[in-house]
Amino acid sequence: MGICMKIIMLGAPGAGKGTQAKLIADKYGIPHISTGDIFRANIKNGTALGMEAKSYMDQGLLVPDELTVKILLDRVAQEDCKKGYVLDGFPRTIPQAEVLDKELDKLHDQIDHAIDVDVPDENIIKRMSGRRACVSCGATYHIEYIKPQREGVCDECGQELVLRDDDRPETVGRRLDVYHEQTQPLIDFYGQKGILKTVDGTQDMQDVFHAIVKILE
Ligand code: ADP
Ligand code: ADP
Ligand code: ZN
Repeated sequence: MGICMKIIMLGAPGAGKGTQAKLIADKYGIPHISTGDIFRANIKNGTALGMEAKSYMDQGLLVPDELTVKILLDRVAQEDCKKGYVLDGFPRTIPQAEVLDKELDKLHDQIDHAIDVDVPDENIIKRMSGRRACVSCGATYHIEYIKPQREGVCDECGQELVLRDDDRPETVGRRLDVYHEQTQPLIDFYGQKGILKTVDGTQDMQDVFHAIVKILE
């Protein structure tokens, strides 16, 4: 196809960034890069990075910028990212966004679109408490809105679906506070750069996706 798109997904935890990022990645044949997925893979494999990240994630806090930036820059330096990528869950702080900008600048490159999936806090609680994730491949479902074919079983790989530790109600409130404090300022940051696009994330999954495709094309 020869198109190269670099996309950032913004939005609260549970807004549907991951769901949409996967659809975008499939449609345009670009990698979907989720820092949360990278951390969870490291936790599962018992790496030192995983152990450190887990201590923050379980509390609903952000993993420190230095650690997060390093894994993200390593990932986007890989060959498959030459054709573009969709970043899901990065950047989550202004310093992370600034480092990404600086690195892209060095390559005379830039982010093309920052897409804010807008969902009010009231809806977020229900999205996150109903989210179920595959223990093996990371696919996500919702017990009410996006059901797997067989309850508790992943459509993609047949493994078990679980409630993430950090999706328990005790942690969700903290994550929303952290979002408003540290991540929401990125909406203005990308707005000022003129690449911010907002979609109404309360619509059905497919309607949100159509709105995004319209923006991209
Ligand atoms: P969600 O999809 O619900 O927003 P993620 O899977 O993106 O959750 O992230 C899970 C957790 O991983 C976050 O709560 C945070 O602790 C950590 N994390 C992921 N991405 C970042 C990031 N860019 N900076 C700091 N911490 C991050
Ligand atoms: P994020 O990556 O922003 O944390 P997810 O993509 O994991 O969010 O979605 C959070 C939860 O909401 C999941 O259970 C997912 O299946 C569900 N979900 C995603 N998009 C929609 C939508 N448009 N309508 C209803 N539920 C959705
Ligand atoms: Zn699976």
